[in-house]
Amino acid sequence: MQNFLSFDRVEPKKRLVGERVKDFDEVYEVFDKVEVKNQSERCVQCGDPYCMTKCPLHNFIPQWLKGVAETNLELAFKLSNETSPFPEIMGRVCPQDVLCEGDCTLNDGHGAITIGSVERYITEKGFSKGFEIPFAHKKIGKSVGIIGSGPAGLSLATYLLRAGVDVTIYERDSKAGGLLTYGIPGFKLDKKVIQNRVELLQNAGLVLKTNCEVGKDIEFSEIQKNHDATFIGIGSTKAKKVGIENENSDGVFMAMEFLSNIQKKLFGENFNSKIDVKGKNVIVVGGGDTAMDCIRTSIREGAKSVTCHYRRDSKNMPGSYKEYRNSVEEGAEFIFYSTPKSISTENGRVAGITFAKTELSEADESGRKRVVEIANSDEVVEADIIIMALGFNPENPKFLETSGVKTNSWGGIEISKTGETSSSNIYSGGDAVRGADLVVRAAFDGREVAKEIVNNFLNK
Ligand SMILES: Cc1cc2nc3c(=O)[nH]c(=O)nc-3n(C[C@H](O)[C@H](O)[C@H](O)COP(=O)(O)OP(=O)(O)OC[C@H]3O[C@@H](n4cnc5c(N)ncnc54)[C@H](O)[C@@H]3O)c2cc1C
Ligand code: SF4
Repeated sequence: MQNFLSFDRVEPKKRLVGERVKDFDEVYEVFDKVEVKNQSERCVQCGDPYCMTKCPLHNFIPQWLKGVAETNLELAFKLSNETSPFPEIMGRVCPQDVLCEGDCTLNDGHGAITIGSVERYITEKGFSKGFEIPFAHKKIGKSVGIIGSGPAGLSLATYLLRAGVDVTIYERDSKAGGLLTYGIPGFKLDKKVIQNRVELLQNAGLVLKTNCEVGKDIEFSEIQKNHDATFIGIGSTKAKKVGIENENSDGVFMAMEFLSNIQKKLFGENFNSKIDVKGKNVIVVGGGDTAMDCIRTSIREGAKSVTCHYRRDSKNMPGSYKEYRNSVEEGAEFIFYSTPKSISTENGRVAGITFAKTELSEADESGRKRVVEIANSDEVVEADIIIMALGFNPENPKFLETSGVKTNSWGGIEISKTGETSSSNIYSGGDAVRGADLVVRAAFDGREVAKEIVNNFLNK
């Protein structure tokens, strides 16, 4: 260990740009045996590892890095899969630069350990060697109904099945995974990786009811009747609108409408063929990870040009810097300090969009600089397609109100410290509670609610 003077930080190789923009396959390759050992050996094994504190799951990072460095992959696999419901997914999609790697001691001059890439390697290599995740063989005679199969629901299901609880997931889409499946594109997360985890849970006893929308195909009250506890993990995917003229015109799409439609097409499911960017000039509005996903998806779908307009600058983007860099590499143009004002149409179809210039003023209570529009700075840009990626709100289906589940001022489900909602024995977590957030935080919520539910079952 402590070999950071012998080995520099190395990131996994990326596929060449000209090759990767032709398909939706993953951009990053997996480390090989030597690379992963060298990177793990760089760890200084600090007494007080900040990486663990910053990881929302408080993963045993130094311990599994030591396992890999000492070629004890089985130990690393066990430790990694104990605190995390799907390390190979988090290793791919976490914004490590602002989580574990951001607080790695070596980040101060030597370059952080590539924690996420080692994490991905451990579980993938472990699976290929036949290592297994332990699930309970003995049932405790209780069951939980989970609404939504996103990372919050899948994480909860994982830890309940490990404790011997029967689990049924009710999912309105035809495939499980939530935004892992229909939001995050395949070039960041191969769909087979999610499918493997879902199959693993099904083999451990998970009952998965897809194409089953709660409130439409089954009543919420029936789920309550059928199970000893219920979890609402329905996410937060209703698009935020800017409220500008012609925002609902032909040729203007909301980010999730666009991304999930392309994913459905790639899966061979029913999709809307009118959402087609091939040969078109595409404008993406927004600066977060979702905007980057729309940009890179448009490029892969054969757009003529893709330009992103964002009201701050590259240093103040809310998403991962890595994804911005990848978007630039793949040919997107970025216009910063630019905010949308109105959309112009011809025969009901989008023809252009007017942006005003912005500047940043003093920081607000959150510490973020405020955006100020510059007067008389309007500029019209021609566009064939506009994709709005400006964030999400919760959907708030009717069953929340009828079952006494309270929501707050912006529509998020209110929960206590134990994850229970205002209605007894109904729990919630993930984006439905936090608003649009991260996979790892949804996974954390699922894990913690599982502990609470199991304790309640065992103590009654
Ligand atoms: C385009 C995009 C890219 C992202 N990229 C990243 C990233 O790179 N890294 C990262 O950490 N995070 C990323 N995120 C955020 C991350 O995906 C979410 O924070 C996370 O998926 C939230 O998990 P969840 O389980 O709470 O909800 P979701 O993943 O939204 O899952 C909710 C599930 O509930 C189902 N559902 C809803 N209502 C009902 C109902 N009435 N009946 C039955 N089922 C229902 C939905 O179909 C869905 O399957 C991204 C988000 C988007 C939109
Ligand atoms: S779960 Fe995310 S934050 Fe935690 S160690 Fe893995 S990549 Fe880092």
